[in-house]
Amino acid sequence: MQTLRASKCGLSTTQLPSSILDVIDSLTKAGYEAYIVGGGVRDLMLGLNPKDFDAVTNATPAQVKEVFGRRCRIIGRRFELAHVYSGRELIEVATFRAPPKKAVTSTSGMILRDNNWGSIEQDFARRDFSINALYYQPRKGIVLDFCDAISDIHHKTLRLLGDPKQRFEEDPVRMLRTLRFAAKLNFDIDPAILKIFDVDMTQLLRDVSPHRLYDESQKLFTMGHLARVLPMLIEFDIWKQLFADIKPEISQFIERAAKNTDQRIQIGKTINPAFFYAVLLWKPFLERCDFYLNKGVIPAEARAQAGLDVLKRQATRTVIPRFAETFIREVWEMQVRLLNPKPQQIEALAGHARFRAGFDFLLLREKSGDDSTQGMGQWWDQYQSLSVDQKEAAISQYNRQRAKTRRKQNAEVNEPKEISTEIEPLVDVPEPRSRRSRREQPRQKDAGRASASASAEQINSDHPIMKRKRVNRDLSKVIFGPTQ
Ligand code: ATP
Ligand code: MG
Repeated sequence: MQTLRASKCGLSTTQLPSSILDVIDSLTKAGYEAYIVGGGVRDLMLGLNPKDFDAVTNATPAQVKEVFGRRCRIIGRRFELAHVYSGRELIEVATFRAPPKKAVTSTSGMILRDNNWGSIEQDFARRDFSINALYYQPRKGIVLDFCDAISDIHHKTLRLLGDPKQRFEEDPVRMLRTLRFAAKLNFDIDPAILKIFDVDMTQLLRDVSPHRLYDESQKLFTMGHLARVLPMLIEFDIWKQLFADIKPEISQFIERAAKNTDQRIQIGKTINPAFFYAVLLWKPFLERCDFYLNKGVIPAEARAQAGLDVLKRQATRTVIPRFAETFIREVWEMQVRLLNPKPQQIEALAGHARFRAGFDFLLLREKSGDDSTQGMGQWWDQYQSLSVDQKEAAISQYNRQRAKTRRKQNAEVNEPKEISTEIEPLVDVPEPRSRRSRREQPRQKDAGRASASASAEQINSDHPIMKRKRVNRDLSKVIFGPTQ
């Protein structure tokens, strides 16, 4: 173990928010050891802006709770932690962990529970990468380095502590973390990891809960280096484990969306991580729409059903929360509205809650060479910068152009027919998962309402599609596209 001087590592308390100092100081005052550990220390030493700061202590979660009282909540089962609120911020406080007992690992070696408290020496060995195992005591001005992590920092190497094979088996999510940190920090992956990081190893991700994989996918999407990590996901065969029916291929659209996401993060703009899922799943969604259209299903119904199918398939890998699923389907549905808006709805559409995301999506499609947008991305782009009068003029011109085009066409095929000037809800928001089965009866009665957007196509209630019952599909039976 080496004790490094914090100042020599480029660390100073002035870089730290008061919240983490408050947590360290309160624990120290109560007689416990407390350090900052993980990404916060690593990123500061690399001159980066840490996302957050995590603390570690020899106090058990119950003792942490005693110190902070109502400001503390104990969370997690597999991995018990204390969440301490300091001002508006939340600090994760972990307790030093010893190696897990044999009884809590699965047959494939995966750790199912990890709540065996231990010493700092035991704790460092339980961490994933050397660079994530530096313990910084800001008041003492020291950093404890048990594994020569400082040299890995200097050599920009991502090294797993212990035997890489065993560490991946214990927690397959470490494979994702390897790619995330390699991309984020622009570090080389240690050859010892590369040697065992093969297709067989990635299969272990099948045992990880799709909820946890969703969380990890979000971290990949929002770390600011999405464009860099995507090819790595393909190269290391992780892509197939994360995405059910998305071809491991980085289309121009995906690439542009990824770069756009990274740029937004760089300039401090917010991003909705579900947006990138909408991008990734767009092609499978269109293919599924075609599948229904070829069966003679009307477009609105085809889109509604295709959206549900594609998201259900994806849920076998990453469970996208319901609100995010709704967002994704609304962004897709917006594409139709924005492509062929009714003139009298243009103004209202531009003020719609989902307009911004739908428009960004449309423009990204257009800029990546998708000419099926018919230049409407650019049209909306310009429209937004116009004055009220200019907007009116633009709408009239659009209307004339539209009428001309319509006359030319044989007023048939997929042409949406004019009806109400009300904007319909974009998607039929489903019941919360738990309540769904109980409410099945009324929902089936309601099948005529199958998709709110179906009504926008002015289908009579005696149309066969309106009588079709919405089947509550069994996930395992939704089969389409290649399955890996
Ligand atoms: P960032 O917060 O920038 O994404 P981080 O390294 O802080 O990166 P966290 O997920 O916040 O990552 O975890 C904090 C620390 O906990 C890590 O630095 C690492 O030491 C440890 N850790 C997290 N996940 C694992 C894991 N799956 N296996 C072993 N150690 C882990
Ligand atoms: Mg962290």
